[in-house]
Amino acid sequence: MKLEHEVLRVHTKHAFTISRGSESEYRVVAVRVTDADGAQGWGEAAPSKFYGETADTIPAALGMFAPVLEHADAWALEDLEAELDHVIRGNAAAKAAVSAALHDLAGKRLGVPVYRLLGLNPARAPLSSFTIAIAGADEVRRKVREAASYPVLKIKLGSDHDEEILRVIREEAPNAIVRVDANAAWTPKHTLNMMDCLVAHRVEFVEQPLPPHDLEGLRFVRERSPLPIIADESCLVAADVARLAGVVDGINIKLAKCGGLREAVKMAAVARANGMLVMMGCMIETSLAITAAAHLAPLLDYADLDGAALLADDPYTGATINGGVIKLPDGPGLGVTRARR
Ligand code: MG
Repeated sequence: MKLEHEVLRVHTKHAFTISRGSESEYRVVAVRVTDADGAQGWGEAAPSKFYGETADTIPAALGMFAPVLEHADAWALEDLEAELDHVIRGNAAAKAAVSAALHDLAGKRLGVPVYRLLGLNPARAPLSSFTIAIAGADEVRRKVREAASYPVLKIKLGSDHDEEILRVIREEAPNAIVRVDANAAWTPKHTLNMMDCLVAHRVEFVEQPLPPHDLEGLRFVRERSPLPIIADESCLVAADVARLAGVVDGINIKLAKCGGLREAVKMAAVARANGMLVMMGCMIETSLAITAAAHLAPLLDYADLDGAALLADDPYTGATINGGVIKLPDGPGLGVTRARR
């Protein structure tokens, strides 16, 4: 198989601010594998600087994967994901792009969507949340009004006015299911101090209140928290899920953290075996990467797959999340088409 890539620039409708910073332009890397007979598969790398990847490191990693794919058996998906892991550590977004492209190719050859390849029932996909990034009270109000069709909101906290944000959310969306994500911005003490406010605003769960490596802090908080605690930045791959059993209530899987569809399925399995909740999230990414994740949605308790819905210029058409309802495409493979160049 031949491996090619293209760097794409995409833009969010609004500047996207979380506790670590603010951006409106994002570079993603579209990947294409082509087998000897011309059959193709597509995938996308959505790099995150926080996890050590950029649109410049992705092509370098892909260059290291190309020799592995050159004479590989395209059906040996399990072996291929393992071999990418042997070539270079980390670089999960680059690996996830290749994994998605290989699954796309396999599905296209069989004439079935990837969810069928994985034996999953699309009717089991939960609603996806829509993310409200950090902003001033007036802008938060405007964004919540724009998101009125979404019954589940994920609120980014870790600002200097978190309580005001929660108040505005509840004024504008009294009936929405509300989840919060502090993106590692809080201390254990502050997290527990926030609990009365979070409960009063009927928050469903708290995602990653503490820094990634503070597992003892997470355990301390979880033992005292009335709300479930979900690990995101603390949980990259399946081995992390095993470490987090008994420490948090659930995990947030992202393809760009774990490096592929098969590792994501393993994470869900390890979480289930430990009685943990399973969520899947995304980066800011196009419908190409979102659709790869969405094919796994039937495995989830909670989905947060709005990365493409936040974009003003998504070049692809694939899974949609209108009104939070995840609709998987019926086409073979990922079922993604490119809408424009
Ligand atoms: Mg998160």
